[in-house]
Amino acid sequence: ILSLAGLSKSFGDMRAVKPVTLDIPEGEFLTIVGPSGSGKSTLVRLLAGLEAPTEGRLKLRGEDITSIPANRRPTAMVFQSLALFDHRSVGQNIEFAMKMKGVAPDARKTRALELLRLVRLPESYYDRPVTQCSGGEKQRVALARAFASDPEILFFDEPLSAIDYRLRKTLEVELKELHQRTGRTFVYITHSLEEAMVMSDRIAIMQAGELVQIGTPAEIYGRPANRFVASFMGEVN
Ligand code: ATP
Ligand code: MG
Repeated sequence: ILSLAGLSKSFGDMRAVKPVTLDIPEGEFLTIVGPSGSGKSTLVRLLAGLEAPTEGRLKLRGEDITSIPANRRPTAMVFQSLALFDHRSVGQNIEFAMKMKGVAPDARKTRALELLRLVRLPESYYDRPVTQCSGGEKQRVALARAFASDPEILFFDEPLSAIDYRLRKTLEVELKELHQRTGRTFVYITHSLEEAMVMSDRIAIMQAGELVQIGTPAEIYGRPANRFVASFMGEVN
């Protein structure tokens, strides 16, 4: 569904992402892992079209991404900060994008309630202020909001990092289920290789701006491309 050819990003003379060539098939759960500063967020921002590449091309279903207007791209992103409107209700947060598109209030509400069910939140949360939601509930609201535009590709930049270990485990399982139920393409960033191992179809490992290896969890575990990957994998045990 996404095709990258020599895609790269520099900030001044700092090469945040060195040229990446890669195809992401429809329906894949691709996880990007790597240490802090290795270029994960920059790569995902490139893929989401939020950042213009320094070099290379990005195609979505064979069409150059730059020829698709930003508001018509079938993508959505969930940020680490979640970026919810705290002073609004859960329903208003989920409906925000639909409202922008001029969807009628009744249709918005019907869809919002559907999305609450999708992320396993009670319908009664529709009118609840976001400030009265727990961290994990806010996470689900952010997910519901991302699904509101019915995107084909969802990008997640460490959405669970601010959540305690046990809840994170629960949400990981739910995210994986959500992926299976919706059949959408997920591109997911995490610091946690353990998380990547259980959730992903493929894992991409970034090191100092370079995509050093990509493969299934078993491939990477069985045949790490270099010592960096090997030592990184060692941390899972
Ligand atoms: P983390 O795990 O800490 O989120 P990351 O792998 O997501 O790290 P990036 O945010 O992609 O890393 O950053 C990669 C490199 O690019 C870093 O050295 C960062 O300082 C630099 N960088 C990112 N955005 C910018 C920017 N807008 N201007 C200048 N440098 C930037
Ligand atoms: Mg980052």
